[in-house]
Amino acid sequence: PHAFPFPTVLDSPSMRDVVIIGSGPAGLTAAIYAARANLAPLLIEGWQSGGQLITTTEVENYPGFAKGIMGPELMKDMRTQAGRFGTEFLTADVTAVNFAQRPFTLTVDGEQTIYTQTVIIATGASAIPIGLKNESRLTGHGVSTCATCDGFFSKGKELLVVGGGDSALEEAIFLTKFATKVSLVHRRDTLRASKIMQDRALHNEKISFIWNTVVEDILGSEVVTGARLKNVVTGKISEVPCAGIFVAIGHRPNTSLFAGQVDMDEKGYIRTYRGTTTNVPGVFAAGDVQDSTYRQAVTAAGSGCMAAIDAERFLESQH
Ligand code: FAD
Repeated sequence: PHAFPFPTVLDSPSMRDVVIIGSGPAGLTAAIYAARANLAPLLIEGWQSGGQLITTTEVENYPGFAKGIMGPELMKDMRTQAGRFGTEFLTADVTAVNFAQRPFTLTVDGEQTIYTQTVIIATGASAIPIGLKNESRLTGHGVSTCATCDGFFSKGKELLVVGGGDSALEEAIFLTKFATKVSLVHRRDTLRASKIMQDRALHNEKISFIWNTVVEDILGSEVVTGARLKNVVTGKISEVPCAGIFVAIGHRPNTSLFAGQVDMDEKGYIRTYRGTTTNVPGVFAAGDVQDSTYRQAVTAAGSGCMAAIDAERFLESQH
């Protein structure tokens, strides 16, 4: 289901200067810049029109919105802004790419072929969920995958963090600035995280550890009120009250489509060099798809701007 009532037919020629893949903050900002540079970009939106922020409620850290803004509204406005300068939208998925030679070819929904001189990859990343029905239902209502985004709402509350790697510990430590107590639920009895992060977490008096344990269910009708836990060694079930659950078991960049076409790191993030350039001249990457560190709307938007400028300069250098 796509959230916005925009035309989705491709009525211009299928040879392009710039095609942007993805309609999150990175893709839409790239579109605003490319459109204003008169490059008539085509933006292929993908299965999640508006990107990750359409799944959230209040966004309080995007500059320019002093009172905060709802995620879907922010994305709708970004899309309108990109459209205003002539971005053409295609509400479809890219299903195959060939970057072996220019013009590059993109296959859309397994049918249509599009040729383009440059590509901006902005396909984002997804947080890996635990996989519980109540987890998706209560996302934005106490379930979160981003402490930087939602930590502030946790003032004076008791929280759970799920995971055992560096990012889980980072989230837990960050959350102790707001929460009265943070319990880290980990399915093993040792942490995967680096020694330095472990030391910091183990010495933080607000953090306690619940070892050998998985989350069986998340409790609460309107908002999170607790979790049902299962000890994987003893099989014992317990219920713990909490006001928030931060799931930090990893992120997966949306890059399977680009396997063998462009360089990626060992986790599948696209490698960028000098701004947003990849190892393939003419292919650029922006936003969470190339960033496992910051993962914010504003950093994604910033790199989308960079990618459009990089693509524009690349095209100029070809004349
Ligand atoms: P995404 O937003 O992930 O967008 C990726 C896009 O790629 C989507 O449009 C998708 O349809 C498209 N796509 C994927 N595959 C294909 C394909 N094959 N073909 C075509 N298109 C494709 N950040 C903040 O700064 N503040 C917050 O308060 C905040 N809250 C958040 C709350 C939640 C619940 C979540 C999940 C994230 C939150 N974030 C927040 C993080 C923020 O949403 C991301 O950092 C940001 O959306 C990344 O933008 P992006 O453009 O790189 O990718």
